[in-house]
Amino acid sequence: MKEHLQHKIFQIISDAADEMERECYVIGGFVRDIFLKRESKDIDVVVVGSGIELAARVAEKLGQKSKLTIFKNFGTAQIKHKDLEVEFVGARKESYQRDSRNPIVENGTLEDDQNRRDFTINALAICLNKSRFGELVDPFGGLVDLQNFVIRTPLNPDVTFSDDPLRMMRGIRFSAQLGFFLETNTFDAIARNKERISIISKERIADELNKIMLSRKPSVGFVLLEKTGLLEHVFPELLALKGAETKDGVGHKDNFYHTLAVLDGICTTTDNLWLRWAALLHDIGKPRTKRFDQRLGWTFHNHNFVGEKMIPEIFKKMKLPTNEKMKYVQKMVTLHMRPIVLSEDEVTDSAVRRLLFDAGDDIEDLMTLCEADITSKNQEKVKRYKSNFQLVRRKLKEIEAKDRVRNFQPPVSGLEIMETFNLPACAIVGDIKMRIKDAILDGEIPNEYEAAKNFMLKVAPDMIADFQKAH
Ligand code: ATP
Repeated sequence: MKEHLQHKIFQIISDAADEMERECYVIGGFVRDIFLKRESKDIDVVVVGSGIELAARVAEKLGQKSKLTIFKNFGTAQIKHKDLEVEFVGARKESYQRDSRNPIVENGTLEDDQNRRDFTINALAICLNKSRFGELVDPFGGLVDLQNFVIRTPLNPDVTFSDDPLRMMRGIRFSAQLGFFLETNTFDAIARNKERISIISKERIADELNKIMLSRKPSVGFVLLEKTGLLEHVFPELLALKGAETKDGVGHKDNFYHTLAVLDGICTTTDNLWLRWAALLHDIGKPRTKRFDQRLGWTFHNHNFVGEKMIPEIFKKMKLPTNEKMKYVQKMVTLHMRPIVLSEDEVTDSAVRRLLFDAGDDIEDLMTLCEADITSKNQEKVKRYKSNFQLVRRKLKEIEAKDRVRNFQPPVSGLEIMETFNLPACAIVGDIKMRIKDAILDGEIPNEYEAAKNFMLKVAPDMIADFQKAH
């Protein structure tokens, strides 16, 4: 193991711990990541004694090149040194009460400290004291579990999960992030303890969901959430997509698995968390809009608009950000069928212009979402859609170059309309502006000032006369 502790910081910690005659280990994620060959800049150090005292001694040795922060209430300290962040904590023993995930903490041994870890792969420790420098302490077979890609709790999983139910989400998140399997007893215990998730704050759950969303294949996480029964508690709207009904011999696809296929698909082309959320939510309105029609079969009319409207309640409830990121997700969900519809019909300039106008700078992301949405098993159909999409993309480029409607600003302002026709600020001004916009988007006139002004002079007098008659 010594070769993984080459960084001079480990030598300094080792010297400090020996001087203080304290047992000291590097533990947790950093050790796990050595074996996974993942580079990690977060180092957790556990000392049998005071973490703060050890940190202070290490900081002294590092001198000016480091920044020490002490968290007195938690009995921990952190040192930032170059790009490394080292946490120091005293080994502890924890005991839990049923209604809280905040344990009663006492000083303990390394063994006590390893017992309170969530998974065997996160309980590995490497000794830093000189006499045992580099010795791996692995009481639960964490190394074998790493080699077999297994997530398993160190103790009885019912105890581990009931003590701190966030660990259930963490276990599923690690499965998704690392591509590991949940060992059977661990899986069963999550299913048995799923209701305990109610004592965990929404923010912590959202953190874990976002980590699942950012993994290479998030469906792994969502399938496990569903199979263990946690999904019902953390995201019931997503669970509602599950199932395929048949009526009069007509079925529809299972929208849960379709959604996950779209999500995995988009993850191969984008790391944008919010575009990934848009993929997860693109059909979220389907259960509420599902109807069976004798003639048409299953329909989900307006599911995109209903989905768009559901997003603020979902984001608020799940403590996801209700800012411009949410608005972006809403926009993607509302528009997600537009390019597909466009590619099915003849691709007219006017329809492309309107799409560019509505999507603005997010047009590329929208196209990415729509392409991921094609999950048909029928290869012919997929091929046809994909080639129609190429056509749409080409047209988008041509029209954008010609008409610049992506960041459309009306060429004639409301003020100019008011001054030209001596109008007060009133509804008809907006109507005239809209008429000009439509004429540009429909290709009746180019997106230029002169043309728009002439058009206004032509159509506005009649519109104003009609308006005045009606009022
Ligand atoms: P990531 O950095 O990807 O979130 P990590 O496990 O590397 O994951 P932390 O979440 O900072 O990093 O946790 C560090 C270590 O602390 C873990 O490896 C584990 O040993 C322990 N740990 C963290 N959270 C818990 C928990 N809820 N229950 C038990 N042990 C935990």
